[in-house]
Amino acid sequence: MQKAAATTAAALISEGLASPADEGPLTQVAERYAIAAPRHMIELIDRNVERDPIAMQIVPSTAELVTTPDERPDPIGDHTYSPVKGLVHRYPDRVLLKVHSACAVYCRFCFRREMLGPGGDSMAEDDIAAALTYIRERPEIWEVILTGGDPLVLSPKRISSLLDSLDTIEHVNVVRFHTRLAVAAPERITDELIRVLSDRRATIYIAVHSNHVRELSDDAIAACDRLTRANIPLVGQTVLLRGVNDTIESLEALFRAMVRARITPYYLHHPDLAPGTSHFRVSIETGQTLMKELRGRVSGLALPTYMLDIPGGHGKVPVGPNYVAKSPDGSALVEDVNGRSHAYPPHITDPS
Ligand SMILES: *Cc1c(COP(=O)(O)O)cnc(C)c1O
Ligand code: SF4
Repeated sequence: MQKAAATTAAALISEGLASPADEGPLTQVAERYAIAAPRHMIELIDRNVERDPIAMQIVPSTAELVTTPDERPDPIGDHTYSPVKGLVHRYPDRVLLKVHSACAVYCRFCFRREMLGPGGDSMAEDDIAAALTYIRERPEIWEVILTGGDPLVLSPKRISSLLDSLDTIEHVNVVRFHTRLAVAAPERITDELIRVLSDRRATIYIAVHSNHVRELSDDAIAACDRLTRANIPLVGQTVLLRGVNDTIESLEALFRAMVRARITPYYLHHPDLAPGTSHFRVSIETGQTLMKELRGRVSGLALPTYMLDIPGGHGKVPVGPNYVAKSPDGSALVEDVNGRSHAYPPHITDPS
């Protein structure tokens, strides 16, 4: 029998992961933001280091009680584009369905942290029915992205019924799951789950959220293997986090390990302005410098796009780095990976 996740400040203290002196403030944190430190991730923590990158992501900190003025409960403006409960339609060809508010792990930096948790706002059966009607009536919706929370935490039976319904909507070509389950609780990528994801009319994609190379444990890699063997392509999503992965060595190791596990790094997300997460934040310049150092150093397969979700619901855009500038004569100046600039097209050398 799998030992349960730690879901309270007291449990984390008795595990030796938090200090008894912090019980008061951490209980306060827990009242606002759900806690779940899954067993598999707890076992990956290196207890000999002060700020272990796995622990930092799953063990709450008293710093979460600090909300800075620029932080907001809905940092990426989901509410602005929600025509039906649980559905976000910001781009014409795809919708998000926030089917489920629970996760196997509650990441301490989560951008939807105020809306998540065991008591959070999941979609009821009629909300799902209303969302399916909305999708059915709009032939421009090419892709449905299941997110939450973690949609793979739902029972295989519920996932199956949702996918059955989506498979009846011919214009839905792709169903993408955003999940952390393969790294948070790989034992939950069961044969039964694989079965309900397999042999669908729509193409299933899974975006695996992982932020540190040590999350890609042997068990996590085996779980990814079960998914790819079922013909499900995997892409990687990573959040750039201060103290967790904001070094060139950390990102390089993570992205190489992802490619080895057949997860193509897709997005490196600039951290969102979620409440109580300022201790994780880095500047865009830091992110750009890291991306610049990666380019040329690692395989192109191991290079995600660095993305910012513009606060207020303005959507995601790549935020660099930029390699092209305009020279005074109007031609392009392109920077190489060593930082040298080159005119494009190259200047023709004067033949005389
Ligand atoms: C992030 C997001 C998507 C997916 O964007 P991609 O660039 O296709 O990964 C879709 N809809 C909303 C509302 C989003 O926030
Ligand atoms: S798994 Fe995703 S949705 Fe759940 S807490 Fe972590 S970042 Fe948020």
